[in-house]
Amino acid sequence: YRNASRIYPGTPPVHAVDELSLDIADGEFLVLVGPSGSGKSTALRMLAGLEDVDAGAVRIGDRDVTELAPKDRDIAMVFQNYALYPHMTVAQNMGFALKLARKPKDEVRRRVEEAAGLLDLVPYLDRLPKALSGGQRQRVAMGRAIVREPSVFLMDEPLSNLDAKLRVETRANIAALQQRLGTTTVYVTHDQVEAMTMGDRVAVLKDGLLQQVDSPRRLYDHPDNAFVAGFIGSPA
Ligand code: ATP
Ligand code: MG
Repeated sequence: YRNASRIYPGTPPVHAVDELSLDIADGEFLVLVGPSGSGKSTALRMLAGLEDVDAGAVRIGDRDVTELAPKDRDIAMVFQNYALYPHMTVAQNMGFALKLARKPKDEVRRRVEEAAGLLDLVPYLDRLPKALSGGQRQRVAMGRAIVREPSVFLMDEPLSNLDAKLRVETRANIAALQQRLGTTTVYVTHDQVEAMTMGDRVAVLKDGLLQQVDSPRRLYDHPDNAFVAGFIGSPA
């Protein structure tokens, strides 16, 4: 992000993301964290191409993608409400984007099986979503992103529909998976504990303004301001 802003029109206009400058390294797991309304989703959606960039620019790798359509950005996004196609099996759900992209059938099958292996979904490939638990559905949503082998994963509160126990388990799974694949990941959460346990670095937002971006350790030991100290220090 280079001085990237998103201002929603209105009276007064809302500076949802205000001159955000942030470099995310190749292969990094970066967490965007902040209270409700701080601009996390807006920032992520700007990177995905789902939201206008009103000033500044957004780049992925060497490319300025500010004006690029979402499908041309080499990203895959996992949402909070990961609606699966109810009439398609797990395998069909996972392979759907590849089928749309006209990938050969055997390649689709290979990538789906590989992703299913990583996500412990092999026994469920022929089931319909309604016959899965919440955690399994969430993994299918991850699988749909993984099969596309994007250069960046974007995740917006992907665990918020899961119960507390499953959330902790899935947290560890996502972190392990990202380490194995080495895919650059930008992960949005309002949960400090999630942010501090998962992120290589954590970017703290408040009212659309970046407060600090640092390793969890540094954020904890050396908060730049009282907001960061209070936010990181308080339980979720
Ligand atoms: P949450 O944790 O609740 O998901 P967030 O950090 O993701 O919050 P955003 O959804 O990015 O926050 O919203 C940032 C600000 O922009 C908020 O003040 C919100 O009300 C405003 N906003 C978001 N979307 C729109 C929109 N489509 N039109 C006008 N204002 C919007
Ligand atoms: Mg949000």
